[in-house]
Amino acid sequence: MANENCIISLQGVNKTFGNNTVVDDFNLDITKGEFVTFLGPSGCGKTTTLRMIAGFETPTSGQILLNGEDITKIPPHKRPINTVFQRYALFPHLDVYDNVAFGLKLKKIPYEKTNRKGETVTKYRHYTRAEIDEKVMRALKIIDLEDLENRDISTLSGGQQQRVAIARAIVNEPEILLLDEPLGALDLKMRKEMQLELKDMHKKIGITFIYVTHDQEEALTMSDTIVVMNNGCIQQIGKPLDIYNEPVNAFVANFIGESNIYNATMVGKLKVKFLNHVFDCVDDFPLNEKVEVVVRPEDVNLTPIKSHAKDGDLNGKIVDKIFKGIHYEYLVMVGKSEVVAQSTKDYELDSQVRIDIEPDLIQIMKKNTTANVFPEAYIDKNNRLVISDAIFDIDVTQLLKGSHVDDLLYLIGPDGKKYDLDDADVIATIGLNDVEIVDGFDNGNANAEVIDTIYKGDHYSVLVRTKEEEDFIIDTIDTWNPGDLVSVKVASEKIKLTLKGDISKYEVD
Ligand code: ATP
Repeated sequence: MANENCIISLQGVNKTFGNNTVVDDFNLDITKGEFVTFLGPSGCGKTTTLRMIAGFETPTSGQILLNGEDITKIPPHKRPINTVFQRYALFPHLDVYDNVAFGLKLKKIPYEKTNRKGETVTKYRHYTRAEIDEKVMRALKIIDLEDLENRDISTLSGGQQQRVAIARAIVNEPEILLLDEPLGALDLKMRKEMQLELKDMHKKIGITFIYVTHDQEEALTMSDTIVVMNNGCIQQIGKPLDIYNEPVNAFVANFIGESNIYNATMVGKLKVKFLNHVFDCVDDFPLNEKVEVVVRPEDVNLTPIKSHAKDGDLNGKIVDKIFKGIHYEYLVMVGKSEVVAQSTKDYELDSQVRIDIEPDLIQIMKKNTTANVFPEAYIDKNNRLVISDAIFDIDVTQLLKGSHVDDLLYLIGPDGKKYDLDDADVIATIGLNDVEIVDGFDNGNANAEVIDTIYKGDHYSVLVRTKEEEDFIIDTIDTWNPGDLVSVKVASEKIKLTLKGDISKYEVD
């Protein structure tokens, strides 16, 4: 074990359902008293990981240690762990007190007794009424509902009901509290309040919290440590600020806060090219290396161009502007690329601006070579994916669990809410094995030229480039030669999408 304060350790944990690996080589040590959040999009394996910690699922391989002991095969009720779910599952016919006391009344606690032969034996007893009373009132005090002990559950607000659910979990004095999207059913205002209350509660009780959410703001507000997940794999583990400032890849950058993410190339010592412009930077990467670049909107400086633009400047046109209370958010077009910028200054729509970015505010990341990642993709009005000059059929229902597409191509959520995804910005991820190369032009989703092939022992890694300079890396057993003119093809179910920003942005009446 990494350190003696480690309460729970997941070591090489995998979980497979049929052929589907939903948690892949998960390694994590959690310290006693820590507030750890699993953050990632729907279906990335957060809940499955939590359920393995709780004991409701068994890992396909790997180990889970609690205080250094293997609990992988121990059933849930024997683990000092309690879970709070999104749907609070309270008993509607019982009042607040009895809901919290319910588990305690059933619980049998061991005690030691000397029998007639003088041997020490373990016996079991129920809690006394006074013991239950003390524990319930202590839990109600922590969640700040002491005055409502006799209230019917149905008369409580959603937030109050969720607090009762938390009291019911902490009354058992678990060492670890697992919280699976516990605020998911609350409205935004209540969520914000409860986030702060939960953090406060965590401080008061001092036990370890493992929290699951797909909401990055929630994760940033509450956690000591965030574990960002995608496709069953840990992407990054770190403190909120470190993850925000130093994302390790485009996926994390997008998930934590709004970002401008671009494919870029190192074109000199501390010089990186993106947006068709060469920027000074502070990260040293080899010459010609393909990298990804992240720039936060608050780090993009805009200056109005009064008269003529100067040569060598990076200029763009403001095409959209939203007042966000303290600052404006601008959408600036530079050629066909979008730059999101924030500024407290009020600039005119359609005006030309110069764009400057300080070298140390350009975060450069090694390009993901385990998948093709397209950070500047978007969805068109026919619900297809556009990556520059490549257009793909996609399954947009992956963006919202339980959704479907209606006849007019709106995405309909499980709650009936309607979303118009036309022009929605997404990050598209396509596996190296999921792209097919076909001979000749016009036989697939995009025309491309083979640029490079590298033999990797048992297969080739082929780099193809479209006319608009989008690169696809493909693992294949077929041989291709630089200069071959080909088409790339990808099946719709192989394209993973991550929406930039929250889906609520696209809601329509
Ligand atoms: P969400 O936030 O939507 O709950 P999540 O990140 O918590 O997503 P999981 O619930 O862990 O994701 O699911 C990960 C993947 O595993 C999904 O594709 C899901 O359909 C699949 N999965 C989960 N449980 C089972 C099961 N019992 N049998 C088959 N597949 C499952």
